[in-house]
Amino acid sequence: MKFISLLSLILVNAGILTGNSTPTETAIRWVSKSKEYQAICQQTYLSAWEKVKEGAKQTSSPWAVVMDIDETLLNNSQYQIELNAKNASHSQEAWEAWVNRTEAKPVPGAKAFILKIRGLPNGRIIFLSNRFARNTEATRRNLQKYDLNEENDVFLLRKDKADTKANRQREVVAGSGRMSPYIKMKILAWFGDAAHDFPDDPRLKWGSQKFMLPNPVYGNW
Ligand SMILES: [Mg+2]
Repeated sequence: MKFISLLSLILVNAGILTGNSTPTETAIRWVSKSKEYQAICQQTYLSAWEKVKEGAKQTSSPWAVVMDIDETLLNNSQYQIELNAKNASHSQEAWEAWVNRTEAKPVPGAKAFILKIRGLPNGRIIFLSNRFARNTEATRRNLQKYDLNEENDVFLLRKDKADTKANRQREVVAGSGRMSPYIKMKILAWFGDAAHDFPDDPRLKWGSQKFMLPNPVYGNW
């Protein structure tokens, strides 16, 4: 028995076993430390770049990409690490305090992707996130720290609880509601880390118009 505990201790220290980590802690560690997480994100953004570059070349009309923010552009694992350290769980209050600190780091590959698409003509970025609209300024500041935001980007954040992503996706596709002040744009790609970040439209294909980033920490699954 003693030998087994000693062996486990050695394996934990060597990083081979995870000790008594909860599944959430393991997921957070994967996001914050693994090379695999970084590779998947970079792979997604690199293949998205090829598609968007091609799409932009083939259209003469104004176009846009629609991007979720959390765990798509910004990595909030530090928020999760701090919650865990305090033995606390996610709450709207804790979340907004974190958002207003503007300390989230970019998801690997996101910055390079955004800088490249800024170089293509007629394009725009629409940030479609469930962050509340009252946090737009803090969100903008956080994105600006990493050159992810420019003046003509569109922020389509949540007005209130009833304002679902599907609602705002419809406005984007139709150019209606909050999108009506803008010239109609062809949407070349959608980015997210959750199923609800993408419109329910069978014509949109994974790896062509829809690009998923990995998020093992939270979701509706
Ligand atoms: Mg997200």
